[in-house]
Amino acid sequence: MKQTINFDLIFKILKKELKNYREPVLSKQKWNKIKKTPFTTLISCLLSLRTKDIVTEKASIKLFEKYDTPEKLADAKTKDIELLIYPVGFYHTKAKRIKEISQTIVDKYNGKVPKDFNELLRLKGVGRKTANIVMIYGFNKKRFLPIDTHCNRIPNRIGWIKTKTPEETEQKLKKILPQKYWFDFNNLFVQFGQKICLPISPICTKCPINYYCKKIGVKKYR
Ligand code: SF4
Repeated sequence: MKQTINFDLIFKILKKELKNYREPVLSKQKWNKIKKTPFTTLISCLLSLRTKDIVTEKASIKLFEKYDTPEKLADAKTKDIELLIYPVGFYHTKAKRIKEISQTIVDKYNGKVPKDFNELLRLKGVGRKTANIVMIYGFNKKRFLPIDTHCNRIPNRIGWIKTKTPEETEQKLKKILPQKYWFDFNNLFVQFGQKICLPISPICTKCPINYYCKKIGVKKYR
C-alpha cells in the first residue's frame, strides 16, 4: 500500500479520545499493589482469553495475591487455582494449563519466563498473541506487535490493510506502521474496539477518526 496514511494524526486523535477510558488489563503496569512481571503478564494473558477485562483483572489480583511466581503456582492445587480465578471463561481448563506452564517454567527455564519469542511459543497454550504480549508488556521490548481480534478487525475496516488472519495482520502492519507506535497499538486498538469500533454495528457517528476510515465491510453502523 502506498503510504498516505497519517498515522501521527490518527494516533494523536485516538490517544486523546481514549485517555479517560479504563486501561486494558494487560498493558497496565500495576494491578492494585501487585507488581507486574513477565510471569504475571503471561498468566493474565492466558486468563484473558475469551474473558472480559474487568473479570481478568479481578481474577489476576486474587490469584497473584496468593501465587505470584512459577514455583508457587506450580505447587498450588488446581482446585484452589480454579476458585481464585473463577469466573473467567474456561476456568477449569485454564487452571490446569497455568499450573502446567508454571511447572514447565520451573523445570525447563530455571523458574524464569524465557525472554525469547520462539521459546515462549514452545509453552503449551501460548500462541503468537500471548508471546507478543509477554515480550512487549512483560519484558518491555518495543519491537513486538500483539494482534487480537480488535487489532485484526479495525485496520482492515479503516482500509490500512487487507488481511484475513491475525498473523497476516501482524506481518502487514509491521511493514506500514512506524515502530514508535507498536507499543501503544494493542492498548489503543483494544480500547477503541471495545468502546467505539465494535465488532457488530460500530458507533461511526461518534468516531473521532470517521473522516479517515474507509469502513470496509461495515454494513451496519450507529
Ligand atoms: S468510522 Fe466506524 S468503522 Fe471506521 S474506525 Fe470509526 S467506528 Fe470503526
